[in-house]
Amino acid sequence: MTIFAKIIAGELPSNKIYEDDYILAFHDINPEAKIHALVVPKPTHLERIQDVTIDDAALIGYLMGKIPHIATLLGINETGYRVITNNGGEHVTQEVPHLHFHILGGELLGDKLAPVN
Ligand code: AMP
Repeated sequence: MTIFAKIIAGELPSNKIYEDDYILAFHDINPEAKIHALVVPKPTHLERIQDVTIDDAALIGYLMGKIPHIATLLGINETGYRVITNNGGEHVTQEVPHLHFHILGGELLGDKLAPVN
C-alpha cells in the first residue's frame, strides 16, 4: 500500500484541500514552491501514465476538470500554476507509485522545466 493509498484510506493524515468520491487534493509535505499541492485519483490501480486506459478516461478527465477549482481554493487560479506528473523511470524519480499531479504556484516560477545539467 502506498503512502497515498494510506492517506486516501484515512490511515495517514494529510493537509486536505479538496476531497470527493473520486479524487483527493492535499498539500505536499515537502513543498517546492510557495503553493505545492498534490491531486490524486482515489482508485489505486494507476501507478503511472502507462497504466491509464480508456476505462479511466472519465476519472482522469474529471480530475483534470477539477484542477481549476482546487487552484481557486488555493487562491492561485488567476495568477497561474504549473501541473506536473513525474512518470518514473531511469531519468525521472517518482517517489510514490500512485499516479498524481503536482500543482505548483503562489510565486513566480521559472520559464522552463530544465534538465539537471
Ligand atoms: P513524486 O516524486 O512525483 O512521486 O512525488 C511525491 C510527492 O509526495 C513528493 O513531492 C513528496 O514531498 C510528497 N509526499 C510524500 N509523502 C507525503 C505525505 N505524507 N503527505 C504529503 N505529501 C507527501
